[in-house]
Amino acid sequence: MEQTFIMIKPDGVQRGLVGEIICRFEKKGFSLKGLKLISVERAFAEKHYEDLSSKPFFSGLVDYIISGPVVAMVWEGKNVVSTGRNIIGATNPAASAPGTIRGDYAVEIGRNIIHGSDAVESARKEIALWFPDGTVNWQSSLHPWIYEC
Ligand code: UDP
Ligand code: MG
Repeated sequence: MEQTFIMIKPDGVQRGLVGEIICRFEKKGFSLKGLKLISVERAFAEKHYEDLSSKPFFSGLVDYIISGPVVAMVWEGKNVVSTGRNIIGATNPAASAPGTIRGDYAVEIGRNIIHGSDAVESARKEIALWFPDGTVNWQSSLHPWIYEC
């Protein structure tokens, strides 16, 4: 089953949105496979965002991610990478549809509350980076009520 890496950024934690965000993924029918509250160092944040290292906003982005604790999560489910991105909304909250997390709770691109992997391959890399000791292997007893088989 597909997995994605979701991170509630420091502004999402500070603004008390952890429960609300977890609730949205849970109610959708996805399964939580890993969860931790963690403060990361600059080098770790740079590694997570290494694909963006040439962008002008890179150092500000790293400052933002290390400005407070984040909630790192692994969610599992059918098409969870792309559906997770839809739940999160567009990168710029000004363009995020109402009903999405960024559309409902964020105003600026540099304070957009949440990260979600953009592809199955990047999810695999990000999960390995953030959860080097692995995640929890369990299956919800609700599975047959969410999936046809
Ligand atoms: N970002 C920014 N300015 C920009 C573009 C992106 O501050 O012009 C930040 C923003 O927090 C975004 C993150 O960099 O979430 C990673 O950018 P990406 O293009 O990967 O967007 P995402 O995948 O988070 O939607
Ligand atoms: Mg991205």
